[in-house]
Amino acid sequence: MEVVVAKFGGSSLANAAQFKKVHNIILSSENRRYVIPSAPGKQNNGDTKITDLLYLCHKQIEHGLKFDDTLDAIVSRYQEIIDGLKLDLDLKPHIEIIKKDMESNASLEYVVSRGEYLNGIILANFLDYEFIDAKDVVCFNENGILDSELTNKKMKEHLSKYPKAVIPGFYGSLPNGDIQIFSRGGSDITGALVARAVNASIYENWTDVSGLLITDPSIVKDAKPIETITYRELRELSYAGATVLHEETIFPVLDAGIPINIRNTNEPDNPGTMIVSYAEPVTPAGGITGIAGRKDFTVISIEKNRMKSEVGFVRKLLTILENHNIYPEHMPSSIDTISLVVMDCQLDNKLDKLIKDIEHQLKPDLIEVFPNMALIATVGHGMAYTPGISAKLFTALAKEGINVRMIDQGSSEINIIVGVETDDFEKAVEAIYHAFV
Ligand code: ASP
Repeated sequence: MEVVVAKFGGSSLANAAQFKKVHNIILSSENRRYVIPSAPGKQNNGDTKITDLLYLCHKQIEHGLKFDDTLDAIVSRYQEIIDGLKLDLDLKPHIEIIKKDMESNASLEYVVSRGEYLNGIILANFLDYEFIDAKDVVCFNENGILDSELTNKKMKEHLSKYPKAVIPGFYGSLPNGDIQIFSRGGSDITGALVARAVNASIYENWTDVSGLLITDPSIVKDAKPIETITYRELRELSYAGATVLHEETIFPVLDAGIPINIRNTNEPDNPGTMIVSYAEPVTPAGGITGIAGRKDFTVISIEKNRMKSEVGFVRKLLTILENHNIYPEHMPSSIDTISLVVMDCQLDNKLDKLIKDIEHQLKPDLIEVFPNMALIATVGHGMAYTPGISAKLFTALAKEGINVRMIDQGSSEINIIVGVETDDFEKAVEAIYHAFV
């Protein structure tokens, strides 16, 4: 029988009404046999995610403050769900253990993972599925890094015993049994690991939007949806600022070739977006798949006569950057110039010292610093086969009077990255969108 793995984000499980929608989705297909829940998310804008309350709880414990009120708020959220679903489930024994552990200074990882743990128990009870504690199947090594192979082995062993199960997202365990977590949003990764282990035909990622949009709807109102996107395109768009899935999500399913389907719990009939390993190099939006971007970059431009004939120049420059723990996003160059495009957050207070080191060690003729840059990536695997894409893009920007400060296109031709002044960012995204869509 076909196996579908379904991961539900926090907004899909924020209260009893949302749980009921999830129940209907799961029961509408026999194939949805493995379910990965996040902790309950916000019910409305003024609300707080359970995970954030747990982080607060841990802070209070750390500072020797009372955490009872915060824990009570968490417990009552779960109780409301249990009552709303009329479940015959007593969470008290679990809460007592958690409270005791908190009182004896449980680790941050343990405390914040309880959000998914408790939600998993409730969801398993509601669906009448087996509950599998993620600590038994998601393995991290002693350095806290996911042990992908061991996880796969353990998951295969465990899950083969249960045809239907709920596995909470976000956490697992270290070799000594202590709880370890992924970074925020990490339930997406748990879902991908489960999908790989059970050889799922599809990994459904249920959230509160009907898939990906070609660009940010806060910039282009009514931005159209993306029906199909490849893993690589998604990676480029996420890197450029589009936030959809945890960025590590695709790796477990990539090799196995399992497609990810982003779906909306509040609009289950919408087919959402399919993320696939291969798609025909034809895209509806005139050769492009999506546009994403980020602000807050600085460009450091270095000029030196005969730079290209000075062997080791770039290596020395990269060593200086490495010594400052700075990683440039792009390094466009010409015969006698090289520019470093760096995220502002990487520069912190290091800029003056960095410039001094470059001046001292590389003796350039000129160094100029240009703050307030934004980068925009226009992504599409169809680009490589369609002449005129860049002409269209640059004409659109020129028509709006936008000055392009930097251009970068990899030879794979999957994206074109342009650097513009921060003030031009939104206007540039709009211009590109309307030129293609
Ligand atoms: N609950 C965790 C968070 O808020 C993990 C997740 O939702 O994926 O980041």
